[in-house]
Amino acid sequence: MTRARILRTIGLTTLVAGAAQVVDYLVNIVLLHDLAAYSPVSTLAISVVVALPLAFVLFGKQMDLTVAKRGLTATLQDREAAITETRDALSRLQSSETLYRLLADNLSDSLSLWDADGQRLYSSPSLEKLLGYTLNEYMTLPIDQGIHPEDFPRIAAVVKAMQPGDEPRPVEYRRARKDGTEVWLESTYTVLRHGGLISATRDITRRKHLELELMAALEQAQAAAAAKADFLANMTHELRTPLNAIVGFSEVLQRSGDLSSQDARHVDLVHDASLTLLEVVNDVLDFSRLEADGVDLDPQPFDPAELARSACALVQPQASAKGLRLDLTLDVARGPMVGDAPRLSRVLLNFLSNAIKFTGEGAVTVRVTQPASAGGAALRIEVADSGIGIPTEQIEGVFERFAQADAGVSRRFGGTGLGLAISKRIIDKMDGAIGVESRVGQGSTFWFELALPLADRLVETAAPEPVLADAETPLRLLLVEDNAVNRELIRAMLAPFDMVIDTAQDGVEGVEAARRAPYDLILMDVQMPVMDGLTATRRIRASETGERAPIVAMTANVLPDQIAKCLDAGMDDHLGKPVDLRRLLETVSRWTQPGTTAEAT
Ligand code: ADP
Repeated sequence: MTRARILRTIGLTTLVAGAAQVVDYLVNIVLLHDLAAYSPVSTLAISVVVALPLAFVLFGKQMDLTVAKRGLTATLQDREAAITETRDALSRLQSSETLYRLLADNLSDSLSLWDADGQRLYSSPSLEKLLGYTLNEYMTLPIDQGIHPEDFPRIAAVVKAMQPGDEPRPVEYRRARKDGTEVWLESTYTVLRHGGLISATRDITRRKHLELELMAALEQAQAAAAAKADFLANMTHELRTPLNAIVGFSEVLQRSGDLSSQDARHVDLVHDASLTLLEVVNDVLDFSRLEADGVDLDPQPFDPAELARSACALVQPQASAKGLRLDLTLDVARGPMVGDAPRLSRVLLNFLSNAIKFTGEGAVTVRVTQPASAGGAALRIEVADSGIGIPTEQIEGVFERFAQADAGVSRRFGGTGLGLAISKRIIDKMDGAIGVESRVGQGSTFWFELALPLADRLVETAAPEPVLADAETPLRLLLVEDNAVNRELIRAMLAPFDMVIDTAQDGVEGVEAARRAPYDLILMDVQMPVMDGLTATRRIRASETGERAPIVAMTANVLPDQIAKCLDAGMDDHLGKPVDLRRLLETVSRWTQPGTTAEAT
């Protein structure tokens, strides 16, 4: 750069000096003809002195110009690049807008855009198909045009509550098309940052109709289920009432001691048969309650070993009668647990009675273990038998209701096919697992396993001895019962004991009797003509001034809500029908112990 500059300066200086010589020569010799005035050396010196700075100045300017030119060129290039970029961006924007319009115009859902003042800015053409209006017509319609008056406030409320940046919110509503037909629409609203609103609307008429049909079907099914539950509750009541008489009188006869040995055997058969029938009725009732989810678990501390021992003791006579060995293996070092023991016992008893029923020879083995589980401990009970086994293709179905491995089974062994279905529902309700492994001809192992908390200690619940306290004066008992057979049965059951039993045939008679004289205990039926037991109890409680007589419901209504109603009405206890002698005596003794009053318990 500097070298080029020096070279150019020398060149220019030489040029200027040469030019000055020529001018001096021409002026002095050619024009003035004065040879003495021409001095090439001085002219050269002067011209060099003038030319050198001039050359530097000129080259400086040239340099500035070059720099300026370069700057301008760069700016121009930048501008050109910016213009190209803008052009590219524009064309990209155009193509994306074309794309979005293409999409919006061809979507089956309709898109609409409103500004912050609620003016429609855009609606996609699919709206024409949706509502039957042309786009131009639609753009001028009032905002709520055709929307069902019940639904519009809902839409308005949703949109009003929304803030920019909120998640899009869908609203379902009815809208009249241009031809007057009604469609169900779903619009999903999004509020934009500047306050505008986008909605995406789709036709959900088909889905909505299906939903409505489904809801109607569900309501019908629920009504049918409620009718079934009512029917079952009534049926079981109707069945339990006569069973009450059969079981009760056969017990009274069994205890009478005046029967010939053949009559006594017949009475035993009647008693056993009526108990079996009662079991079937109870199974149906339990199953329908489990199906309707009307069962509440009652977890209490219990001893798994004791649970298994007493279940085995209950079925030991059946096993012995068939010549079967009944073994119990316990591995329960973790000790007591908290669970609904009566229901677990019911499942175990069901496994056991099946095992004994379906085993001709060999043994039935119960194994109780407490494996580790995620939350602490679990309880696993297995019942293995050496019986007929279950064919593989029928194993899946044994826990279904009314399932029996094959039709021959019910003919040969009897049974309703409800036991395992009830067991499964109980274990399911406790979030446990239930299953079976079986081989035809070799035997089956039924098991259940469920996580249960360990109990700190067992609560001692000593059952009261059904012994009636010797009183100086006989006990006074009021029996309010509309059914003459039941009245006679209770009288017969309590006949050997020293008590005075007054009877009343309905609630009104019961209230009057209670008003006339004090009783040590009132046994009150619930369903009665003239006045039911609940109303009668409320009346008795309202008119009591002195001591409060214990009132025990004696009814075939045994569902939890029915028992709760009895207690709400002012009763103190509940005795389910059919009443067996032991429970009757237990109840009478509990409520007539000296010092026991209704308030004390
Ligand atoms: P039920 O015994 O009243 O028929 P369950 O629900 O208890 O009803 O049993 C359903 C069916 O499962 C039985 O009918 C029988 O076919 C089969 N089953 C149950 N336990 C056993 C067993 N231990 N051995 C063979 N089959 C069994």
